[in-house]
This record gives sequence, C-alpha cells and structure tokens, in this order.
Amino acid sequence: MAEVEAVQIIAESLKQQGVEYVFGIIGIPVIELSMAFQAAGLKYIGMRNEQAACYAAQAIGYLTGKPGVCLVVSGPGLLHVTGGMANAQVNCWPLIVIGGATNQDHEGIGGFQECPQVELSRPYCKYAARPATAALIPLHVEKAVRYATYGRPGVAYLDFPGNILQSKAQEARIYKALAHPAPPLAYPPHDDVIRAAKLLRQSKRPLVIVGKGSAYAHAENTLRHFIENTNLPFLPTPMGKGVVSDTAPQCVSSARTLALQKADVVLLLGARLNWILHFGKAPRYDKDVKFIQVDINPEELHNSVVASVAIQADIRPFAEQLFEQMNAVNFRFGYEQDWWKQLAVKCKQNRDTVQKMSLNTETPLNYYAVFHHLRELLPKDTIIVSEGANTMDIGRSMLLNEQPRHRLDAGTFGTMGVGPGFAVAAALFCRDFAPGKRVLCVEGDSAFGFSGMEIETMVRYKLPVTIVIVNNNGIYGGFDKDTFEAIRSEGDLTQITPPSALGVQVRYEEMMKMFGMKGYFCTEIEQLQAAVKAANQLTDRPTIINVAISPSSDRKPQSFNWLTESKL
Ligand code: ADP
Ligand code: MG
Repeated sequence: MAEVEAVQIIAESLKQQGVEYVFGIIGIPVIELSMAFQAAGLKYIGMRNEQAACYAAQAIGYLTGKPGVCLVVSGPGLLHVTGGMANAQVNCWPLIVIGGATNQDHEGIGGFQECPQVELSRPYCKYAARPATAALIPLHVEKAVRYATYGRPGVAYLDFPGNILQSKAQEARIYKALAHPAPPLAYPPHDDVIRAAKLLRQSKRPLVIVGKGSAYAHAENTLRHFIENTNLPFLPTPMGKGVVSDTAPQCVSSARTLALQKADVVLLLGARLNWILHFGKAPRYDKDVKFIQVDINPEELHNSVVASVAIQADIRPFAEQLFEQMNAVNFRFGYEQDWWKQLAVKCKQNRDTVQKMSLNTETPLNYYAVFHHLRELLPKDTIIVSEGANTMDIGRSMLLNEQPRHRLDAGTFGTMGVGPGFAVAAALFCRDFAPGKRVLCVEGDSAFGFSGMEIETMVRYKLPVTIVIVNNNGIYGGFDKDTFEAIRSEGDLTQITPPSALGVQVRYEEMMKMFGMKGYFCTEIEQLQAAVKAANQLTDRPTIINVAISPSSDRKPQSFNWLTESKL
C-alpha cells in the first residue's frame, strides 16, 4: 500500500488550507520539512534570527489575511519565537508556528534540545497541539489555520517530534480535512445599528476611531464612503492609519488630544480601549462620554468602559448598515458645527507648530525636519514600517498613510525589533501583489540593533527596502560625542556608561558594503534628499540611510505624560 512521508503531509495540508509563505531557520529535525515545503510550492524564506522570522510570518498574515508559517527547530528555536508569538497574539494577527521537537524516545532522559514546547506556547496561542501520528496531521493543520483566522485572529502552534517527522502514513489512512472557507462574516443585530445611528445623530461632539481591526477587516471602501458622506471627524489608531486616508479632510489626528478629551460619543471600530487609547477614561476623555463599540470578539465588549451600544460584528457589514441608517435621514455633520470649528482651530495650531520645526534644517537635524523631508520624497503608497521610541512616535504623526495596512509598527505589545522582519514580509507582499510599491523601514538606532542582520536576508532575496536609521546615539534621548567622551574618559565603563547610551556616530550604513550594496550617511537635509532619491530608484536591493540627528531633539511639548494620568 502506498505510503506518504509526514513532511509531505504537513506541506500539502498547509497548501490545501491556503498557506503560501513560510519564514524560518532550519536545523535538526526540520531540514527535510523545509524542503518538502518548497516541493509543495510554498515560498520558503530563510531568515537570520527566529524572532525576525516570526515577525515576518505574522506581518504577511496581517497583510494578506492568510496566516504565514514560522518554522523553527526544537528548544532554543522555539523559545526564540515566543516573543513573536506573543506579539502576534496581542496584535490579533493570524500566525502559525511549526516547531521541530526532540524524538519522543528521548523525552524525559535529556533529549537534544528537549523542552516542553506545547506548554510553553499555549499562553500565546489560540491552539497548541502535537499531532499524535502522521495520518492525523491534516486534522491539526486545518484546525490551526481555522483558529488563526476565525473570530479574533491569533496564533496556532504545531509541535512535531523528530520521530513523527521521519514517519510515514498509509495513504488510505490519512485524515481528509476539508479546505475550510474564509471566516464567516458576523452581522450586527439590526436594532443595535439603529441605536448606534440614533446616538450618533444626537451627538454634539461625535468622533469615529478607526483601529487596526478595521484594517484587518478590509473595511476601507465602506468606511471611506461612510466618513465622506457623514463628514464625521475621525481619528486613526497607529495601525488604523490609512483605512481612511490621513489626508482626508475629516482626519483630526492633529487635534488628537482635544478630540479624545471632548468627544461626547465615540464610535470605536476595531480598536481596544487599552493603553493606546488611554483606557477610555478621564482625564483623557470626558467622564460622560458614550462609546459605541464594534468588535468581532464578544469578550472584548465593555472592556475597561461599559459601552452604551456594544456590537459583536465584523466592521464591514456594520459600517454598511450604519451608513444606510444615517443616509436615510440625509445625515451630515457639517463644518458649521461648533465641534468642527474647535477641531479645525486646534488642527491648525498644531500643524503650524510642527511646520516650524519641520522647516528648521539647522544641523544637527531634528526629528521633524527629517520626517518632513522624507515625506516629501516618498511615493504616497509606500508601506511604512516603523519602530523606536521618538522615531516611531514622531514618525507616526509626520509620515502619512493614504492606504490601508500600509503601516506596521511596534503595535499593541510595544515590541522592539519587529522592523526588519516586518519589512521583509512587506517587500515580499509588494513583489507578489503590488509590484512597484516601495517599503520604507524607519528605525531608531536602538531598534535597528535588535534585528539588523536581516539586511542579509533582504540582500539575498533582492528586496528593495529603504532602511532609514534616525540616529541619536542612544535609547530615548541620545548622547552627543563630547558628553559621551567626557563620561567615558575614566573609570569603570560598566558603572559610568549610561544605560541609555549607544555608540556615538556609528556608521550603520557601512553594513551595506559587506554585501556590495550602497549606504548613505547624512547630517544635512540636502544629503538626505539625495539619498532618498537614489533609494527610490532601487528595485532589487535594500539600502541604509543613516541620518545623524541632534541627540537632544525631542517631541514637541505634550499636554499629557505618555502612559500616565489615566485613572482606573
Ligand atoms: P488598535 O491597535 O488599532 O487600537 P487593537 O489591536 O487594539 O487595535 O484592536 C483591534 C480589534 O479589532 C480587536 O479587538 C479585534 O478583536 C478586532 N477585530 C479584528 N478583526 C475584526 C473584524 N474583521 N471586524 C471587527 N473587529 C475586528
Ligand atoms: Mg536612538
């Protein structure tokens, strides 16, 4: 009777369930598995660090809606991706991790890289399992893909001991899984849509918050139509940027603090009231604000604040039905409304402040000048990956997104080190689905250090990623050369080197030379402009633009301290 190898069963099951990409680092016992993936037509991308591979796999999941796979070896390999699994789970992004494991014969007696992998993964997963036999693999693969993508998306882990990977199954005995259809759309209860519409119509100071759940839901067309026609002010969350364009007249990002603080009704579309949205509480919000909360996950409803209308639904059908209700009475929140006037004044004030800093091109450069000039030269549909402290925060307001799912950053978990992995996935996505589109990876010098070696991956796969390192020689605030030298002139460096210090004037762009590629070092705006123009021409290779900025450059003054001043 015909027999099929387990590795082939895994590869074909993934393929059957719609998986296309695998990111990983191979080693015993998953070498043959990686080859089986390629033989089955899956795209295998070998990376340099398991964490970065895991970040890449989850980014492709977010961008395509189909989970990417991260393939790792046993023990340390799996441990290195737990950070990535947690990041995907917290971001609600679909991901499947496949780990090799020690031979079951050796379990309990000190097997090679032996480790309780299923237990270790479980807190970061919706589903974690070890298929008992080769014949049962399709059952678990189908379940992993279903759990990763249905309901609130998340992570699934499948564990494969060496002896299972080397086994075979009789063809007739192999479990026959169906390729399941795309996740069902959850429709809102009609009465709740009517209540939501009524609350919005009565509101004096309405605000729509567009979260990354709306981006994942592909609700862009519906929401653009809704916002354009109702003229309601909206605020995107960091990765909700671009679902409705940042350049739309109804976008009030420049008046974020005021919009949150004074709104009387907030329509929350696929965003959680967590730290990013200051838990929905005073003093960042009006104490009497009413929330209309829409989320695919019913357990999320009423989290932190009791919503006035709480709806378990997919954003798309909800927004369509809400629009019908608003349109039936020709609702339009005109600019003559007092709320719009307040928002407009604040937007203008903040834009003027930022404009002043942006046009100040004195050296050493400040963040705002760097981002302003970067923005001027970037194609408008660039996918922007960003991480770092100030680099990410200031870049979020300065670099605009006109399209959905075009911003990937440290996310809900606040994870540093995600940038290069995300950028690899974004560049592959562009190559396969949106040729010609560019990927910009804006990194603080500290953030870049976590996964910098992935530039070799970008070179190997000919990925045109422009990495801009906004370099202040440190974590958060940086150090200038003189201070740094003065501190270090004597004594025990482990005692006196400030924990936030990194090497000063490090020429990160020279790393590109190791691969025969070009990098750019910039201290002035003209150099930055020339470098970005040159980078925009690249179609088959990455580059690094290392921009030295003033170590004392900071955010513009904020009315609230970050993360503090929210009373629970
Ligand atoms: P943000 O970081 O933009 O604030 P969060 O990650 O906090 O966004 O929240 C996203 C929310 O969107 C999650 O609670 C998730 O359950 C929800 N979500 C994901 N997909 C959908 C969808 N298709 N429809 C509705 N809600 C969704
Ligand atoms: Mg820095």
